[in-house]
Amino acid sequence: MDRMKTATARKAYENVKGQIGGCGIWCGSCALGNGSLRALIGGLESVLDSHGAEHWAPSEMDYPAFSCGLDVLRGAASCVGCRQGGGRDDCSLRACAVESHVADCSDCTDFGSCANDELLQHMREGARKAGLFVRDPGENAGDLLAVWPKGLEASWPSTILFEDERCSNFPKS
Ligand code: SF4
Ligand code: SF4
Repeated sequence: MDRMKTATARKAYENVKGQIGGCGIWCGSCALGNGSLRALIGGLESVLDSHGAEHWAPSEMDYPAFSCGLDVLRGAASCVGCRQGGGRDDCSLRACAVESHVADCSDCTDFGSCANDELLQHMREGARKAGLFVRDPGENAGDLLAVWPKGLEASWPSTILFEDERCSNFPKS
C-alpha cells in the first residue's frame, strides 16, 4: 500500500475512531469514514498506473472513463463521522437520539420497540453484514472503544490501515 495514501487514511481513522453514531454503529469501523476505502481505491490506481493499464486494458472497456470514475469515487469516499455531521443526511435515528438525550440508541429504554425500529435494525444489521462494529444495549461505550481498535486490525478492509505497523516489524534484509 502506498505509504502516503495510508498515512492520509490513518488521519481519517483518527478523526472517527472515537465516534459511535446515534444508531450505535462505530464510525471507526466504517470504510467510508476511516479512510480504508479511499486507500484501497488509491492503491488500485497506483497498481494500474505502474502496470500501464491504459495500454493493455480490454478494448471493449472505456479505460479513461473508468479511471475518471475511480478518481471521483475516491474523492467521494470520505465521511467525517456521524457525530460531526457525516452519515445519512437528516438521519431520523441521529435526530431521535439527540432529542431523547441518549448517547446512542443502545442507551434508549425504547430500543427494539420505537417507531424508528425498522430503520434502526435495518441500519444496524446492514452495518454488521458489511463488517462494521455495532454497540448493543447494556454494553459500555468506553469499554468497546478500548477493545474495538484491536479487532479492527484483523477486519477487512480496515486491516489495511495498519499495514505500515506490520511492515515496520518485518526484519530488514
Ligand atoms: S447518520 Fe444515522 S445511520 Fe448513520 S451512523 Fe449516524 S445515526 Fe447511524
Ligand atoms: S426512540 Fe428509537 S430511534 Fe429514538 S433514540 Fe430510542 S431507540 Fe433510537
